[in-house]
Amino acid sequence: MNRKRLFGAWISCALLFACHSRQSADLILYNGVVYTVDSGFTTTAAFAVKDGKILAMGSDREILDAYRSDSRVDAGGKPVYPGFIDAHSHFVGYGGSLFSASLFASASFEEVVQRVKAFADAHPGEAWILGRGWDQNRFPGKSFPDNARLNELFPSTPVVLERVDGHALIANAKALELAGVLPGQQLTGGTVETKNGRLTGILIDNAQRLVRSKIPELSAADYAQRLMAAQANCFAQGLTTVADCGLNRADIEKIDSLQKAGQLKMRLYVMLSDNPQNLSYYLPRGPYKTDLLYVKGVKAYADGALGSRGACLLQPYDDQPGWQGFLLSNPPHYDSLARLLAGTDFQLCTHAIGDSANRVILEVYNKYLGGKNDRRWRIEHAQVINENDFELFGKGSIVPSVQPTHATSDMYWAGARLGAMRIKGAYAFRQLLDQNGWLPLGTDFPVEDISPFKTFLAAVFRVDAKGWPAGGFQPENGLSREQTIRGMTIWAARADMLEKEIGSLEAGKRADFIILDKDLMKVPQAEVLQTHVVAAWSGGKKVAG
Ligand SMILES: [Zn+2]
Repeated sequence: MNRKRLFGAWISCALLFACHSRQSADLILYNGVVYTVDSGFTTTAAFAVKDGKILAMGSDREILDAYRSDSRVDAGGKPVYPGFIDAHSHFVGYGGSLFSASLFASASFEEVVQRVKAFADAHPGEAWILGRGWDQNRFPGKSFPDNARLNELFPSTPVVLERVDGHALIANAKALELAGVLPGQQLTGGTVETKNGRLTGILIDNAQRLVRSKIPELSAADYAQRLMAAQANCFAQGLTTVADCGLNRADIEKIDSLQKAGQLKMRLYVMLSDNPQNLSYYLPRGPYKTDLLYVKGVKAYADGALGSRGACLLQPYDDQPGWQGFLLSNPPHYDSLARLLAGTDFQLCTHAIGDSANRVILEVYNKYLGGKNDRRWRIEHAQVINENDFELFGKGSIVPSVQPTHATSDMYWAGARLGAMRIKGAYAFRQLLDQNGWLPLGTDFPVEDISPFKTFLAAVFRVDAKGWPAGGFQPENGLSREQTIRGMTIWAARADMLEKEIGSLEAGKRADFIILDKDLMKVPQAEVLQTHVVAAWSGGKKVAG
């Protein structure tokens, strides 16, 4: 072969290669069991990513033949899912809870006091001592504590300890004094507990604002530190998008700037807290949207929580005769808020736990939604529903936004509150799913653990982390594995009005995905909580693992 012919052969090879040259991608994942969570719940093996979005899905052959990338991820045959989405949580509150005294699962109020003391000793010089997570249902006697011990140990430092559900707190005398709380003080939608003419320190629902509003604001650096810690924990659990159910403009602007600075990478769907300042600023401007932030909801509260007997029931509590709980605002407030939001692009998202609170909100929503629609107004928790009211969800296409771990945390005492008949309509996820054919899932963290695996276990098997009870709590209301995965991904995205961008792995969608070490579609019940996130990506960038 002479030189000329050799050159010619080289040219034709180069041309041939050029014809088959592969398109460049920023990342290729291959050799996976990729659950796309598309409409048919199909699986595939590989996909290519460019500019943070999925270019194409396919077999290993199809993707590796069509795309080249310096960044290739061999999934090693492991399951790949869309990044998990928590449809109801409190991201900012969770960040705060990581930097305050952790009182979760304390077995007595004395244990709470000891934990607070240990926290105070480890953090000398804190102007206010904050804690979260106590639950009197775990204490001997199950009644609310009083602040005598806190007053004794902390005579000059204000102490504020939130109940696990965020619907009650106990404050010491110093905090009550700084807030100007008086014995017997009355207010709408809240209780200042007073016994024998003295404050016990217990403030329920709206009464909490009296002391909360006095807690000094965090510095910008401290604020960022809390969100970054929350983000790291969420990514490690496979959560790539979370909702924050109730923020003010100041929080939203801090989050937006941390995201724009590239520091905060967590995607957030935000509900505005229902107050005149938020509404007058945001309603005329409309929903606020960036790649990482969607301010689209308005969060109202119909009632409190079942654990603190603040849930508003149609009939008295079984364990407190004559007491039905209460609505947090007068009924006309919900009507005027619904009327106001019906004329905007915001979703109304109302916390409703008791069957009475749910009925009030369902009726108001239906009045303004008028039949089937795509507004996706939500009822957060939808916890206790009267048997006659389930159909009201379907009638107005109202979205029940539920938290499976609430069922398995509350099951120990919810029956005592509600009685054998009424509890049948509580945590009735299957019945709620049947109303619209889809159901978003969340945790309400930090009220519950952030773990999506605990959500999966509670939704499918209706047991808690201890595996209790055998056979599950009201197992007829369990969801299938597929329904549960959808609830933690595409249905959560849909509740957040983000299903065109996230929630499934399909061409054109954001490349938010996770690799797990066990397959949730197959893992035995006993191993669900031993499932771990091997690695997580958000917008095609690795964020964990
Ligand atoms: Zn919540």
